[in-house]
Amino acid sequence: MQDGQEARDAGKMGPVLASGSSRQREPLELDGAGLLIDIGLGPRQLARRLQEIGSDWQRIRGVVLTHTHSDHWSARSLARLAELRVPFFCHAEHLRPLNRQCPEFQSLQFCRVGKDIHSGADF
Ligand SMILES: [Zn+2]
Repeated sequence: MQDGQEARDAGKMGPVLASGSSRQREPLELDGAGLLIDIGLGPRQLARRLQEIGSDWQRIRGVVLTHTHSDHWSARSLARLAELRVPFFCHAEHLRPLNRQCPEFQSLQFCRVGKDIHSGADF
């Protein structure tokens, strides 16, 4: 799903790693560490795309979710984050819908990899 505001916001967030049915941008590089915005691809496809741009999971220090539309996150990739212990940041208001839709998100919270962000607070 993509409304007008989302399309405008997406333009500010760097190159696209994949589009179409799954939203996935290239990682932002901050001091050599990668930050993924959304995690719409499945784990194997995501690993392949990262490799294609000379990156990999070792370089990814965190994943930030923009919003909870189902094309912005993959349950299997959330499970992968839990295995790799890569922090996943989402807004506090995302917790309830993700918990409802996604058992993998619950396990991510259980192993304390899931973190919620509050507007105006440090992250
Ligand atoms: Zn969306």
